[in-house]
Amino acid sequence: MDKHDNLILPKEAELKGYVNIDRYNEEAVDRIASHYGDILTSLGEDPKREGLLKTPERIAKSLQYLTHGYDIDPKEILLSARFKEEYSQMVIVKDIEVYSLCEHHMLPFFGKAHIAYIPNGHIVGLSKIPRVVDAFARRLQVQERLTNEIRDCIQETLNPVGVAVVIECKHLCMSMRGIQKQNSVTTTSAFTGEFSKERTRMEFLQLIKANLG
Ligand SMILES: [Zn+2]
Repeated sequence: MDKHDNLILPKEAELKGYVNIDRYNEEAVDRIASHYGDILTSLGEDPKREGLLKTPERIAKSLQYLTHGYDIDPKEILLSARFKEEYSQMVIVKDIEVYSLCEHHMLPFFGKAHIAYIPNGHIVGLSKIPRVVDAFARRLQVQERLTNEIRDCIQETLNPVGVAVVIECKHLCMSMRGIQKQNSVTTTSAFTGEFSKERTRMEFLQLIKANLG
């Protein structure tokens, strides 16, 4: 059984922009939790001490939540709210919160995404764009692939004249370990179509500039 089979995203909570998952695949929770008991011991901890008793189970549930994007079809999200419309100017959604886990260390990286597209006969409900970001971000990721996956999903689903995606994130695997560059921000970008032209790309970058410091 897939580890996410029993995850249910409550519709109402989802509409409020907050998803509280209170159902889990219990079998997967038990399996993941038992491994984390061993990990705590290997780290020199006592998994039987009071503060840690429920920690393996909490981690297991938390990990299921943090990777629930595997169960979401981002194209389906866009197709469910795609409308015919002759609007042909740039549509920009700025400052979309991004929370993801780097696949190399399973430590968080987080920040903002800025996304634009130029419609080609179809627009999409604006609230769907952040949900696409979340569907890809709630997986084990690298920022570069996350950026490309969002771009490709919008391009393939809406077939716009162009798509632009800029993501800026802090990576805890950089700030908490290794070189400890506490304040460094990684910026990635991906463009298609009209945004390959410098003039259009510049216009987009100007419009989101306030965020790029
Ligand atoms: Zn990392």
